[in-house]
Parts: sequence; structure tokens; C-alpha cells
Amino acid sequence: MNGQMMQQPLLISSLLVHAERHHGEQEVVTRRVEGDIHRETYRELAARARRMAKALAALGVRHSDRVATLAWNTYRHMELYYAVSGSGAVLHTLNPRLHPDQVVYIADHAEDQVLFFDLTFLPLVQAVAARCKTVKHWVLMSDRAHMPTGDAAAKIPGLLCFEELIEGQDDRYTWPSFDENHASSLCYTSGTTGNPKGVLYSHRSTVLHTFAISMPDALSVSANDSILPVVPMFHVNAWGLPYAACMNGAKLVFPGAGLDGKNLYELFETEKVTVSAGVPTVWQGLLAYVEANGLKFSTMRRTVIGGSACPPAMLRKFGDEYDVRVLHAWGMTEMSPVGTVAAFKPRHLGLSKEEQYGVMSKQGRAVYGVDLKIVGENGEELPWGTETSGDVLVKGPWIVSQYFKGEGGDPLVDGWFPTGDVARMDADGYMQITDRSKDVIKSGGEWIGSIDLENIAMAHPAVAMAACIAAKHPKWDERPLLVVMKKPGAAVTREEIIGFFEGKIAKWWTPDDVVFVDAIPLGATGKMQKNKLRELFKDHVLPTA
Ligand code: ADP
Repeated sequence: MNGQMMQQPLLISSLLVHAERHHGEQEVVTRRVEGDIHRETYRELAARARRMAKALAALGVRHSDRVATLAWNTYRHMELYYAVSGSGAVLHTLNPRLHPDQVVYIADHAEDQVLFFDLTFLPLVQAVAARCKTVKHWVLMSDRAHMPTGDAAAKIPGLLCFEELIEGQDDRYTWPSFDENHASSLCYTSGTTGNPKGVLYSHRSTVLHTFAISMPDALSVSANDSILPVVPMFHVNAWGLPYAACMNGAKLVFPGAGLDGKNLYELFETEKVTVSAGVPTVWQGLLAYVEANGLKFSTMRRTVIGGSACPPAMLRKFGDEYDVRVLHAWGMTEMSPVGTVAAFKPRHLGLSKEEQYGVMSKQGRAVYGVDLKIVGENGEELPWGTETSGDVLVKGPWIVSQYFKGEGGDPLVDGWFPTGDVARMDADGYMQITDRSKDVIKSGGEWIGSIDLENIAMAHPAVAMAACIAAKHPKWDERPLLVVMKKPGAAVTREEIIGFFEGKIAKWWTPDDVVFVDAIPLGATGKMQKNKLRELFKDHVLPTA
């Protein structure tokens, strides 16, 4: 016997329809790439998205065609999120921080038909336009007054203007209905090894993920929130926040290209931001600015930190000095991206602050919809509550089953997706990532968790950033080498840093050596590029060797 409830496909357009009808007055505020502050309501945003959907059809974009963006977090990008996916095409958010050759490779691989770009990326588009084989239209996300002319325009065949496309259409448009399993958007993994691979989300997976991240023990999104996603909309859909904001009628505040501490802080205050989200490196800049100017956050109370491990020193600083609760979360492009969030269980509420920070510094427990397990070398599931680390495997309705165009073959192992992360699980089901499998340091056959070592180093007052990599060792095969970037003006010696580890970890985990660098290379999504450091220090001779 079947249930007798309505059959309605879970479509991304339904999120915007809801926001327009039930939260039509709610605001979307943007620091525009052009420099000024722009405000519109969900009602206006929805109307403009419908006009853009008609403009796309007029350009010849058909069902399933890929439409790419090279863009910051702005209202125009948000309008494309809905116009493209809602009309049945596939939104491909390209990462503009990638090398131009990679942009060309990915645009060709995705077979992008139209590419929208922000003013900031005009030079990048000029450099790649002639090389992208499938792009028929290039659209500058601005108005007529900002359109390039002469030589600059000549380098981009078929250049169009975003505002003119919108002005050319009315908003009489009904979002089409189709199978909820239809592809909605495409994101490429940053490809630290091999070529980038595409992850193709569906309307169903996106809407389910949106429900999941909205829940109170996940990101807890409410109509009373003002959300500023620092995490870019080109990095796994800004972790789903552009969708969750519509589902819940929350205010959205977009920083555009202004990602420095000063710009962010001003927006936090003027737009009464309650929740934010971003990778740890972004918050370093913001905290440094706030600290240097003796400021406080008057409305921000929560911030989601993920993408790489949040150093415990950072969540402590947020909590103790600014009364901001860090929600440490873990996930990846292949997981839409959220898998775990470190929200408390009842038993944690009575713990001391220090013990609570211990819980918060783990990557957290699985949100409903994601199942995860940690397996040993022979694929056997490891019991919870032991110190042993193993490979993390996941499954669920918003986790990749294969890469775009079947790239790399079947990624699954008995129906589970191997994440490439290494973690241990405590007795309460809180996962703690100790490494990525390719970053693991294997000393005498035993794993050393590089993240643990980095977290300790980052708590040293003179250390701005620290990366721990494996260095060759004649006896132990590999030993930890700590690469340190000092805070400006700070002085600290190798011996002091090594001494700082004493009593904090097993003695044999202590780094064998410390090297100081001016800067630690960051990748396109703000993560430390340990592969570059490994290359740089591949001939480093440890004093213990
Ligand atoms: P890429 O693999 O291209 O870097 P992702 O942005 O999808 O792209 O990164 C996912 C990876 O980032 C995870 O597999 C994990 O290694 C790391 N990661 C994400 N969140 C955390 C976290 N909270 N703590 C530690 N590592 C994290």
C-alpha cells in the first residue's frame, strides 16, 4: 500500500519560490565588486532570477547545458544560482583562484556554453577566452557603464552585459518542473593530485542537504539570522548557505571581493550579522584586524569553521574574547559538502569550558543523512572510543556516487565513499580528523597526526601559521618536520618551538626539526598546500638523521 501524499519533486526553484512568497521583504545585501553597497529583497531577487532564466533561454541555453560562473559572493551570483539551476540548466561554479590553464581545462571538460564573470576577473577572462572551446557567450556581471571597450572588449568574442540581459526580459516566467534527480550544479575538486574531477549535484541532493544543514544541531539557520558567508560561492556552493537562507528566510550579506578584516568587520556590524562561515585562514585576518583595533562583535554569535582543521587556539579566542561560538564542521566537495558538525550532546553541557573546547575542536558528529565509519588497514570497521585512527568512509543521498563523465572509474568501496581523510572516533561518535591520507606521516610504521602537531604549534603566541610535513629519515622512514610562519615582528627559536610540545603529546610525536618560512603557500580554497612544502623540503636533512 502506498502513502497518499502529494508527489512533488524536490527542486531548487522551490526554495526561491518559498523565499519570495513567505519572506519577500527579507534583504540580500552585497558589497558590490563596483565598490558600493547594494540592497534588494527576496521579492526583487526572485523577479530578477526569472528574467535571467528567460534571458538564458533566449541565448539558446537548453536543459542540462552547463553555465559557468567566475564570481564572488554577490546578489548577481545568487540570482544565477536560481536562474540557471531552476530553469533546468547546470550551474558550474569555477574557482577563479585556479591557474588559467586549469580554468581552461575545467571549462572545456564541463563543456560550458555560457560563462558569467565579475569585473575583477576581466584580465583572467581576456587571457582564457580564445582558448575555451565550448563557451559561446561571455557575460560581464555588471552594467553598461562598466563594460570594457576597444582592445579589452575585442579579446572577448561575444561579450554581453548582465544588466542588459535582465533588462531585455520581463519576469513572467514559471519555473519548470522536472525529475528531482536532474543535475543542478557542478563543482570541481581542487585537484591537489591529478586533474580536477567534477562532482555533479542533483536538485534532490541539494534540497536534502539544505534541510540537513538548517537543523538546530547543524548550522541552525533561522529567519532571524543575518548570514554572511565568507566561504565563496565557488567553493562547494558556499557550503549550501545560499540555499539554506532561502529555505529559512534568513537575511544574506555578501562581501563581494572585500574579504579583508576591515571590510568583513564593517559588514558584520552594519548588517547585524549573527552567523558567518569560512575556512580558518580567513578568520586569522579578521581576528588580527579586530584585535589590533580593540573591537568587539556586537551581533555575531556563531561562526562555522571548516575546510581545514580549526586550530583550538582560534576557537578559544573566539569564545573567550569575543563570545562567538565556533561550530567546527567537516565535509568535502564530494559531500555537498557537510558531513559532521561539532554540536554538543546533553552530556557536554555540564562540562568545564576547557573540556567543551576539547569537544568543539573535534570535527563533530554525523548530521542525519550522512553515515560514516572508520576502517582499519584491512577494511574492518574500527570500534568507537579508541585512540586508533583509520580511513573515513561515508554514504548518503548527497554524497557522490561517481565523478562527472566517469572520470577516475568507480570511486566507491562496497557502496561507501572513501574520503581520503584519516580520523579517530570517540565514544560519543565525534570524529577527529588526524590527517588526509596523502599528508600522513608514517614513522616506523606508525601514523603521526600532522593536524595535532599543527594545532599545538598554532597555539604558540609567536606562530602565525604552521604546517607539519613528513621528512625522510634513514631509520624511521619519515619523521615530522614543522614549517612555521611567524607573526609579524615576533621572535622565536627552533628550540623554543620544539620545547613547546613537551607534555602536550607523546614524546615520539615531537617534530624532529623546525624551519621558518616567510609564507606558507595557500591553495585556491585557502588551504595550506603541503604538497608544495613537501617539494620544497624534499632534500631537507633532519638533525636526527
Ligand atoms: P579539496 O579536496 O579540493 O581540498 P574540499 O574543499 O572538498 O576540496 O576539501 C575537503 C577536505 O578538506 C576534506 O577531505 C578534509 O581533508 C579537509 N577538511 C574539511 N573540513 C575539515 C575540518 N574541519 N578539519 C580538518 N580537515 C577538514
